[in-house]
Amino acid sequence: MENISPALLNWFYANHRILPFRSDPTPYHVWLSEIMLQQTRVSAALPYYERFLAALPDIPALAACEEEKLHKLWEGLGYYSRVRNLQKAAKIVCEQYGGELPADYDALRALPGIGDYTAGAIASISFGLPVPAVDGNVLRVFSRLYNDDGLITDPKVKRAFTARVMEHQPPAAPGDYNQALMELGALVCVPNGAPLCEQCPLAHLCQARAAGTALSLPRKAAPKARRIEPVTLAVVRSPAGVLLQQRPEKGLLAGLWQPVLWENETLTPDEARARLAALGVTCTPDAAKALRPAKHIFSHIEWQMQGYLFAADTQPAPASCVWASPEQLAAEYTLPGAFKAYKKLLAAAL
Ligand code: SF4
Repeated sequence: MENISPALLNWFYANHRILPFRSDPTPYHVWLSEIMLQQTRVSAALPYYERFLAALPDIPALAACEEEKLHKLWEGLGYYSRVRNLQKAAKIVCEQYGGELPADYDALRALPGIGDYTAGAIASISFGLPVPAVDGNVLRVFSRLYNDDGLITDPKVKRAFTARVMEHQPPAAPGDYNQALMELGALVCVPNGAPLCEQCPLAHLCQARAAGTALSLPRKAAPKARRIEPVTLAVVRSPAGVLLQQRPEKGLLAGLWQPVLWENETLTPDEARARLAALGVTCTPDAAKALRPAKHIFSHIEWQMQGYLFAADTQPAPASCVWASPEQLAAEYTLPGAFKAYKKLLAAAL
C-alpha cells in the first residue's frame, strides 16, 4: 500500500478539532488529557480538564495535592484509579525526574497508569519521538484500511497492526501522524454505525471499502458477562446532615464516600435498621421509606441497588463515617457516580 501519511496529514491540518491540549501540548497536558479521555468523551472531559489544570497547573502541584481534593476534582468522571495513578506517577516524577516527565518512551511506560498508548502519545506528541500511539480508533482504521479481520483484542494482532502503523509514520511528524489517525477514527472512520467513507482522505486506498466489509470490522472478542450484585443502602439523615461512610483504601471505589451500604445483600427495611443499630446508629422509630431501585454498571459488575430512607436524632458518627451537611457534601466529600440516583436526597437538608 502506498504511504498514507501525506493524504492523512493534509486532511488533519484542515479538519482537526481545536482542543486545548492540542494548542499547548506540554507533556503534562497531553498526559492529563489522555488519562481523562480513556473512558470519557471529549466534550464531557473538557470542563474537567480546564478545572483540573486551574487547580493543579503542574506536576509538582498534582503530586502535593491532598487526596480528598484530588477526588473532588475527578468527581463525575468515574474510574478513580486513573486519578490515583496520576498522582502516584506525579510523585515519582518529582522524586526521579525533577518534576518534568522524561522524554523517553520506556521511562514513561514504567510510570503507574501509563500504558503503551499513553506513553506513545506523550512521547510522540510532546517530545516528537518516532513511536506509535495505537488506541481503539487507530486499530479500527487499520483493520479497515487493510481489510484485516484479525481479533484486535489479541496482543499478537495488535503488535502486527502497530508494525503497519509504523510503516506509514513520517519521521518528521510522528505526533501529528498519530493524532491524525486518532482523529480520523473519531470523526470519519467512526465506531458506531457506518463510517463516513465519502469524507475519508484514505478512501482510494481502503481495502474494506473496496470489499464492502467496513461495517463488520474491526473484529473483537465478545465482552465478558457482568456479575450481578444486589446492594442495600441506607440514606440516614439527622439534623447534623446525612450519614456518609468512607470505602476501604483498596478495591472498588477505594477511599470514596457513600451512603451506608451492604454489598451482595438484599435486606428488608427492618434488617437494614438492625444493621444500622449494630453499627451504633439509632434511627427514629417511624417507618423507613423505600427509595426507587437503581442500578450502576461498573466494567465487570452490575450493582442492583435498593435504598431506604431513615431519620435519626443528633448522635456521634460510627467509625469510618461522618455526618455531612449539604455544604460539606458539595465541597469536601466525593460521592461516586454509582449513587447518582440518590444524590439529590443525600444532598438535601433534613
Ligand atoms: S474509507 Fe471508510 S472504512 Fe476505509 S478508512 Fe476511510 S472511513 Fe474507514
